[in-house]
Amino acid sequence: MKNLLEDTVVGIYLDLVAKMPGACTCASCKEDALAYVLNKTRPRYSGGTDTGMALIALDLQKDQTRAQLAVIVLDAIQRVAANPRHPAH
Ligand SMILES: [Zn+2]
Repeated sequence: MKNLLEDTVVGIYLDLVAKMPGACTCASCKEDALAYVLNKTRPRYSGGTDTGMALIALDLQKDQTRAQLAVIVLDAIQRVAANPRHPAH
């Protein structure tokens, strides 16, 4: 369950961050952005039954779900870019 959501979020993150010239893609910025997204999205994707996992897998393939996740990922990238753990490059 956890990996399913994380894989989807990482995929969306890599896709979006590549389109944002100003975004830093170092390990700590990536980690911060992904932690922010997963904190916001995990409550929606908790549950451990097989049926639950099948529903999550289906949900994560929907364009609508991916669009909603993309909004959160974009927010995370901007937050991290505005307040990186390291000095600006
Ligand atoms: Zn960075």
